[in-house]
Amino acid sequence: MERFLDYFEPEKYVLDLTVDKHKKTIGGRVSVVGKAIQDKIKFHAVNMDVTEVLIHGKPAKFSLKDDVLEIELDKNYPKDAVNFHIYYSGHLNENMQGAYLSTYEYEGKTETIVATQFESHYAREAFPCIDEPGAKAVFHLNISVPKEEGEIVLSNMPIVNTSEEDGKIRYQFYATPKMSTYLLAFVIGKFKGKTVKNAHGVEITTYVALNQEDDAVDFANEIAAKSLEFYDDNFGVPYPLAKCDQVALPDFEAGAMENWGLVTYRESMLVAGKNATLGTKKSVALTVAHELSHQWFGDLVTMQWWDDLWLNESFASVMEYYAVDFIHPEYKIFEGFFTNDALSALKRDAYKDVQSVHQDVKNPAEIATLFDPSIVYSKGARLMLMVIRMMGWDKFTAGIRDYFEEYKYSNTIGDNLWDALNKYADFDVKKMMHAFIDKPGYPVIESSDDFKTYSQMRFLIDAPMKGESDWPIVKVTEDMSGHYILNLTERQFEERLDEFEGFGLEEKLRLLIDRHLLSKTELVDSGSLIPLIKKFNDENSAAIWNIVITIIGGLKIFFDDGSDAERNYKDMIRLLIDKKLDEVGLVTRENDDENTLRLRSALLALDYYAEDTKRLDKLSKMYNADFEKIDAEIREDVLAAKMYMEPSIYDDYLEAYKTISDPEIKYELLSSLCLSRDEINVQKNLELLGRIDVVKPQDQFYLFIYLFRNPVAKMRAFSWLTKNWEKVAELAGDKSLDNYPRYIANTIRTEEEAKMYHDFFSPKQGEAALARAIEIGEKEIKAQLKLIEEDQASVMNALHQR
Ligand SMILES: [Zn+2]
Repeated sequence: MERFLDYFEPEKYVLDLTVDKHKKTIGGRVSVVGKAIQDKIKFHAVNMDVTEVLIHGKPAKFSLKDDVLEIELDKNYPKDAVNFHIYYSGHLNENMQGAYLSTYEYEGKTETIVATQFESHYAREAFPCIDEPGAKAVFHLNISVPKEEGEIVLSNMPIVNTSEEDGKIRYQFYATPKMSTYLLAFVIGKFKGKTVKNAHGVEITTYVALNQEDDAVDFANEIAAKSLEFYDDNFGVPYPLAKCDQVALPDFEAGAMENWGLVTYRESMLVAGKNATLGTKKSVALTVAHELSHQWFGDLVTMQWWDDLWLNESFASVMEYYAVDFIHPEYKIFEGFFTNDALSALKRDAYKDVQSVHQDVKNPAEIATLFDPSIVYSKGARLMLMVIRMMGWDKFTAGIRDYFEEYKYSNTIGDNLWDALNKYADFDVKKMMHAFIDKPGYPVIESSDDFKTYSQMRFLIDAPMKGESDWPIVKVTEDMSGHYILNLTERQFEERLDEFEGFGLEEKLRLLIDRHLLSKTELVDSGSLIPLIKKFNDENSAAIWNIVITIIGGLKIFFDDGSDAERNYKDMIRLLIDKKLDEVGLVTRENDDENTLRLRSALLALDYYAEDTKRLDKLSKMYNADFEKIDAEIREDVLAAKMYMEPSIYDDYLEAYKTISDPEIKYELLSSLCLSRDEINVQKNLELLGRIDVVKPQDQFYLFIYLFRNPVAKMRAFSWLTKNWEKVAELAGDKSLDNYPRYIANTIRTEEEAKMYHDFFSPKQGEAALARAIEIGEKEIKAQLKLIEEDQASVMNALHQR
């Protein structure tokens, strides 16, 4: 793929921009100084007009075609300090990328915000630039906006100066350090914020829209302050900017974005007020810690090219856990790493043609598809954890400190990191990591009882497993460190079950996680899972219950909706959770520890599936139209139970959904609305698809998947999708459109659904942004149907043997 950095190396941009949210325009003058390598210079410039280009003040020849601005250099100019002035006019988008518009309601009025999302390659939609991570430069940003009372303008750096002219205010920001275009950011709009100073003197301000509660930012401030201290202490190079702002944006495509010094978030990923549940606090903490670790890994040191995106994401996805574990050890946050991230990586990485962590990029549209959460984030994080544990934290961070010192303000490739770590490791980190990162997959290991001798082959769900594989496994352990699974003999497995109590949590989790994965292949019969899960009715650990629940969820595919067998299965689940749920009770008690809170909410979610009407009735009686009066930890279950028992509550929920600004309650309401199987409600729900005046574009995907999970709405939701695909694609943007084929494949159960998937998606396989997700999706469906065919009888048998 052609790189524009090969034509010109920018050193400094001076951006004099005028941004007008009313006219939906952005434009002005971009001055660039840098070193020319060729006689022709190319800039990325998407969806804009370029009116004039000057070189050293004299008009230059240029053309703008296919999103490329090409400028001819006069041969007489010295090439090492070329100075361009580019005059252009562009547009503010409405699809959450580039410079875009976002809105929220406050006191009966619609407030409009301008925000940016430049990762991965959308800075080019806001101004002409060399939009590649390797093209680091210093940015001097000046923004003029129409004067509006109460509005603030934020960017990566603090403001140096403001001036007023012709009804416009001009904000001049301090120059940034040398950095990549995708990290530049600005936000214009009405927000409220609170500032705290951490122990190292960094000022952190968290902003939210005016319609959020005053205490919405306190938790995020606390986590940010302490995360930055933690990273300062461990990474050697102190946080290099004067301030750290965090902003919750009412419209946001991803979860959050690590713009240097101005981190932006989806509201639900930053807001945690006094009513927030433990689950929300944890996810906010992880998200904040993740983005702030990027201030080093990603912002200070950046991958040379997108093929090494994992350098950013794998690192941040493990560091978030170390930081939160340091700040709130009582959260036992790593348990979530094993039950969510590790499991998600193992599941996805078991498909033959899944992407590798390090992935070549041949086409710009492919950049957006690199962000496979199970691979680049979860698998990468799991591999990093393996390295950290093998090296030990002190040696690992010693290597990291060298790495930051050597490469700060510049770009790297993966080997730079491995070389830095190798200096401190007593094994070859580079060799081991290349084996895991450059190709997809992981081994399933069969071993002797003492683990002294073993054999390995690649573990696959969608293809036959054969032949030996050669992943460098330094030592086989039964904790959750290594990226492999163990195929124990029946005897080994039974022995471990007998001694289950004596094992550590990670060993217990591995035993169940591995078994769950093996059951998706011919190595373990799914029927054997039924007696297995019954053994856990007395279990106290929420983490173990999470995996048991995953196994229960996995078994659902064997039962047709509404069938006798399904009823039997639900009876079994009711029996399984009864005792435990009686023990922990339905409502939060004063002395509940973290484990109990998690356990209760995990069990209650099962209760809904099992249709335990007695308990659902009890829960629904705790409903209060003033949601703040409901026990927050079980609010989601209460709302769902009320909808189950009394479908006519629908209109109340929808009305509340439209007016409430607390992001957590909003999602709980949306999910409860979609649970209803009442025909009138289903119809109303389907009508919400595409209605962005009710369900914001950022949440349309959630609406769809909530409906897709409801057997009564599933096919109709899909049919809507097929008829409105263009609109969906426009709303989703190319970065998240592949979520649709990826998620849908995951929930296909029947030949009929498989055909519907195939008919609709296979013609789209030529589109780079969708190709991989569809390809894996088709294979996943095939594997799923094959599994149902092969194991259904034995699951039914096991179910009857009670
Ligand atoms: Zn990230």
